[in-house]
Amino acid sequence: MTEESADVVVIGGGITGAATAYAAARDGVDVVLVERFGLAAMASGWTLAGVRQSGRHPAELPLARAAVARWAGLDDELEAKTGYRRHGNMRLARDTAEVEAIRRLVDEQGRLGLELEFLRSTEAVREREPALARTVLAASFCASDGSADPVASVRAFARAAERHGARLLEGERVIGLEVQGGRLQAVRTGQRRIPTRHAVIASGVFGNELLAPLELAVPLRQPMVTVLQTEPLPPLLGPVLGVANADMAGRQEGSGRLRVTSGAGDWQGVMTTEPVPRVSPTAGSVAQVVTKLAHVLPAFETAAIHAVWAGLLDLTPDALPVLDRVPGVDGLFAAMGFSGHGFGIGPVTGEIMAGLVRGEPSDFDLAPFRFDRFNRTAAEVGLTLHG
Ligand SMILES: Cc1cc2nc3c(=O)[nH]c(=O)nc-3n(C[C@H](O)[C@H](O)[C@H](O)COP(=O)(O)OP(=O)(O)OC[C@H]3O[C@@H](n4cnc5c(N)ncnc54)[C@H](O)[C@@H]3O)c2cc1C
Repeated sequence: MTEESADVVVIGGGITGAATAYAAARDGVDVVLVERFGLAAMASGWTLAGVRQSGRHPAELPLARAAVARWAGLDDELEAKTGYRRHGNMRLARDTAEVEAIRRLVDEQGRLGLELEFLRSTEAVREREPALARTVLAASFCASDGSADPVASVRAFARAAERHGARLLEGERVIGLEVQGGRLQAVRTGQRRIPTRHAVIASGVFGNELLAPLELAVPLRQPMVTVLQTEPLPPLLGPVLGVANADMAGRQEGSGRLRVTSGAGDWQGVMTTEPVPRVSPTAGSVAQVVTKLAHVLPAFETAAIHAVWAGLLDLTPDALPVLDRVPGVDGLFAAMGFSGHGFGIGPVTGEIMAGLVRGEPSDFDLAPFRFDRFNRTAAEVGLTLHG
């Protein structure tokens, strides 16, 4: 077994880990990024990859706004194409209760300083997006939201990290953390021991596997989201679509393919991991996506389907992530529990985690993202929005 030390080991090569590894390496830290399967093998590949501020929890909004500002310059900074486009986000209302929900959202978020339009009628919606059906009664529209190519973005961060000296260990699984006297000493993979004083758990739904031997956990539920991707279509849809109750979302990719998602449903607990993690959607969830999408976007019904898959969310009781030191273990940090909206904020999450590792104060209020807050959380909230 080989031994080569690092200043920091980042565990997980999704958007969170890749962006963290990049931010740390860029600032001169000696980084090893360990990914069990391949870059973007899990949520960061399964995702819809919306980059939105609208509909964010007030605690997360400052991160989302900073992320949107950062995404605009990432192609230049990372010297690679992320596929980022600022093409807006439209959240649809399909009945009168949803009209009220969207109206409230626009008011609340406007008060928080986000520029968000309320499209108050079917005509106003269809004037902007003629492909939408008359079943849409109203919508919010946030022009500064958008999306990116998820796999390209994760690769862009990882390659840029490597250019700054980070070492990427792909296809290598972290199997344990060595802790002595309350201090992290090393990270163990199946192939090696990496002596280190710092590690960041950015392992998505598998984060608790690494915390369990330390008798720690972030309370997570793992609902499943079904994703359909069509063959390329002529330009049809401008913004990313969402709906008031989060039971579907979708967007047209730069390639012309529609990529559409269900709401969060029950997962039967079956995931195959060879050669890459795969969760199979149920026929019922696929049928629901088709029905719900075609209800608002009739052209979807006749589109040829290219691919179907399912993804898991790492849903915390308050639907906010943990971005914090791990209590009781000096040098160990956790970035997990993104609850269906961790892609868009990834570039900022990376900066936050690299800053925590360096021991610097953050520009953001990180109190809502504390590891130990669930000890005090009274009620569990459901997933309200994703996409
Ligand atoms: C269908 C779907 C739609 C979504 N839509 C949006 C959206 O529109 N906008 C948005 O912002 N967010 C969205 N999300 C959420 C977003 O994709 C995730 O929050 C984000 O990608 C999480 O990134 P991550 O890097 O934290 O986790 P992941 O991408 O899951 O990465 C974790 C990585 O850790 C690796 N790993 C795990 N255990 C180990 C180990 N022991 N050793 C080494 N490596 C390990 C895994 O292989 C994996 O690659 C969506 C999610 C899904 C599933």
